Amino acid sequence: MEEGMTDSGMDMNTTRDARRRLPAVDALLAHPAVAAARQRHGHRLARRAVRQVLDDARRRLAAEPIHPGADDGEALAAAALERLDELARPTCRTVFNLTGTVIHTNLGRSPLAEAAIAAMAEAARHPMALEYDLEDGGRGDRDRLVEGLLCELTGAEAATVVNNNAGAVLLALGALGAGREALISRGELIEIGGAFRMPDIMQAAGCHLREVGATNRTHPRDFESAIGEHTGLIVKAHTSNYAITGFTASVPDARLAEIAHAHGIPFLVDLGSGALADFAALGLPYEAQPSDAIAAGADVVTFSGDKLLGGPQAGILVGRRAAIATIKRHPLKRALRLDKLTLAALEATLRLYRDGDAPARDVPTLALLTRTEAEITATAERLLPHVSGLLGDFNVTLAPCASQLGSGSLPVDRLPSRALAWRSHADTRRQRERELRRLEAALRKLPRPVIGRISDGALRLDLRCLATAADEAAFLGQLAELPGRYAALGRKDDGGTP
Ligand SMILES: *Cc1c(COP(=O)(O)O)cnc(C)c1O
Repeated sequence: MEEGMTDSGMDMNTTRDARRRLPAVDALLAHPAVAAARQRHGHRLARRAVRQVLDDARRRLAAEPIHPGADDGEALAAAALERLDELARPTCRTVFNLTGTVIHTNLGRSPLAEAAIAAMAEAARHPMALEYDLEDGGRGDRDRLVEGLLCELTGAEAATVVNNNAGAVLLALGALGAGREALISRGELIEIGGAFRMPDIMQAAGCHLREVGATNRTHPRDFESAIGEHTGLIVKAHTSNYAITGFTASVPDARLAEIAHAHGIPFLVDLGSGALADFAALGLPYEAQPSDAIAAGADVVTFSGDKLLGGPQAGILVGRRAAIATIKRHPLKRALRLDKLTLAALEATLRLYRDGDAPARDVPTLALLTRTEAEITATAERLLPHVSGLLGDFNVTLAPCASQLGSGSLPVDRLPSRALAWRSHADTRRQRERELRRLEAALRKLPRPVIGRISDGALRLDLRCLATAADEAAFLGQLAELPGRYAALGRKDDGGTP
């Protein structure tokens, strides 16, 4: 910019002149490219984009009167198109989860099975017999849509479903133990991300928490000696996001059920993940199933719909008929109930487990978890030629890595996988870190953002979750935009010099 020309009297006039040369809203809307985009996105949104772009230009001219091209119609039209694309883009954005955490709570956990997606779309499109008995035309119970399936899959007598597992635990505690003591081992006072802490949930449910045993060791006698006239229930929580190892002891479910029943109180198990498949048979780390806790004598078992089960977000409660009936009568059940879309998706997912020939193929979460290292390596080798050399500042290699299951499922187990690892050529460590963060940001700016992870001096994209041909094509299809996004971020960082 030519510094010498900023005389204030001249500023005013130049500014006014330049602003006067800005096209009118309707003129910019009539620009052929903008008019074409208006067909696609609608007049309302196009006008909004054009207004914003003209406002920006006016502001820029006020701040910096000699701004060559600020009133250029072609540049303004291009800016309006870009703004229109931004405005039209939904806030709910889908992304590529290449973080290496398969069930990622911040990225929406489990992708749904095609059957579940189809069922959801049908339920969305039409009225549905949600609480309507098609046999006699009377009022029905929405839980019945999935209760039979859940009972068959877990061996339970009865089942009910709510919005999520935190809600399921809250509801079960409130219905079975409000105003009374809930006994739980000191080793299980869990905190799951997002402020789900067992002591707080108990308090919210109106239960009095009574800790028994020690952090690493809890014995049957700890429970037996704690039971008194105020005891309402015994609770077992799956220590889902950590593991206590070393000198440890916990009381098996069957023993806890025995102690609870000898005193006429219920035994509640919060399983967290709730795998419905035999993980060991799939070559995955062992994971207890709801049917194990039911067989051990639990009165109520709660688990999530969108963790290892691979369905929609839901909290599932299975157990004894009387306990489930008490839970269903609690007013919170109404407040936490599932909508028809989730019920449709959950039913379709459960059917894949009960009736399907290959849940490990058809439930995406299971398919991702059971993907072999060889398959992931093949994906990585196909992608490598497309990414190496894409950005001159980086060197890309295939690196072994270890995926996590995520969402507190099987916290210590890792699945061998392959990542594209981008390393910066910059001289200093600080520069390299900055470049990696810039690359990370550029990947987030792609039309379908790519979320990776920086570790050990490289940006790593774990390819376990880039599993379908469609995903691979979509990933490759937007790569050409990466250099531009990367360059644009550099300009901003360096304070405006192109
Ligand atoms: C994940 C988890 C929860 C919370 O489940 P949401 O479905 O996220 O509400 C509760 N308890 C345990 C043990 C968990 O692992």
